[in-house]
Amino acid sequence: MKEGENRKKSKKELREERRKARAERHIAVCPHCGKNVLDHLTECPYCKGALVPAGYRPVDPAKYKKIKIVCTAVGVAVSIALILIIVFTR
Ligand SMILES: [Zn+2]
Repeated sequence: MKEGENRKKSKKELREERRKARAERHIAVCPHCGKNVLDHLTECPYCKGALVPAGYRPVDPAKYKKIKIVCTAVGVAVSIALILIIVFTR
């Protein structure tokens, strides 16, 4: 009984540790005041300085255009293929 309780507790502690480790991964240092802030914030809660959120990258318009062209080309190719399949399998 006691053993089981201990196992349960250590499991809970392990979970807590994992949760903390996960939270630490989302901590960034504010370049304005040097305090620890969450990396998804756009404004420091301490000094109200502007922050660049992690994982945020401005979309490159040239790249976006290229991706759009490729997607359109693939869509048109798939449409033509479907039409051909429908026409020639009749
Ligand atoms: Zn700050």
